[in-house]
Amino acid sequence: MKWKQIIDAIKENDTIIIHRHVRPDPDAIGSQVGLKEIIKHSFPSKHVYVVGEDEPTLTFLASMDDIGDNVYENALVIVCDTANRPRIDDQRYTMGRQLIKIDHHPNVDVYGDVSVVDTTASSVSEMIFELYEQGREDGFRLNDTAARLLYAGIVGDTGRFMFPSTTKKTFQYAAELVTYDFDRPALYAELYSVEDNISRLQGYVLQEFELLPSGLCTIKLTKGILEKFHVSPDESSQLVNILSTIKGIKAWVFFIEEEDQIRVRLRSKGPVINEIAANYNGGGHPLASGATIYSWEEADNMTNELESACLAHMR
Ligand code: 5GP
Repeated sequence: MKWKQIIDAIKENDTIIIHRHVRPDPDAIGSQVGLKEIIKHSFPSKHVYVVGEDEPTLTFLASMDDIGDNVYENALVIVCDTANRPRIDDQRYTMGRQLIKIDHHPNVDVYGDVSVVDTTASSVSEMIFELYEQGREDGFRLNDTAARLLYAGIVGDTGRFMFPSTTKKTFQYAAELVTYDFDRPALYAELYSVEDNISRLQGYVLQEFELLPSGLCTIKLTKGILEKFHVSPDESSQLVNILSTIKGIKAWVFFIEEEDQIRVRLRSKGPVINEIAANYNGGGHPLASGATIYSWEEADNMTNELESACLAHMR
């Protein structure tokens, strides 16, 4: 059973520190903190911590723990939702005595003494639910707080149960999660309401996107535009799905200018895009990935590669 080693490791260790990726999304935080809540609820004497930068747009989900380096001595470290080591938020993850990776991205960077990678899982939150289920005989228990976090992660990474990664299992787990006591409408409101300035930037994106004959859609959010709308590059990431409803669209890309780099956020309805992201030191899933580039010329080159992928997919 794939979870056995992880269940045993959790039971054997008194101190457990859980990491996740930089710029966390609801699944990164949902799986990370959901796992913490499950362990704390199931084994109250254990010391469990979550580390990483607090994400201002997701503080309604949970906040992080501030721990010293000494806590890592003899700790089990678990990393959720992070394919590549450099993307782990807080590089102290190496300081524990045992390292576990739990992820659903393609396993390009193999790390950890134990790793469970399931690219068929809609989300790592779904995987954490499975871990809880498999650990029931060993005393694993779920509570309302953990259920809310895992539900948020599943909803986030499945695009509200719309993405192709959503399976029968996803719905089954979600159905069980909603039997716990948390305010679902309030959670949806937190996840999907935006500040008025972001809503105005949304208007700009919908007005200014470029749709190429291949079905590729691009939008450039320069520093000037972001300043005009008083939106930070990180906050603008909330807009990435708004182009998905354009008829005929095959893939879309947001180029978001930051201080001295350009953040690329890629989405697709068919053409494989993570290989293109990997050409620029990025990565992710076949239909949702990202990268960081350093010039608008690189953005144009990337656009050309994406266009070729979209054209090839048409044939
Ligand atoms: P997002 O656009 O939501 O930040 O990222 C979409 C997916 O691509 C996520 O699964 C994320 O982990 C992955 N991703 C985003 N940026 C990078 C990157 O720079 N490198 C790698 N390896 N994955 C990334």
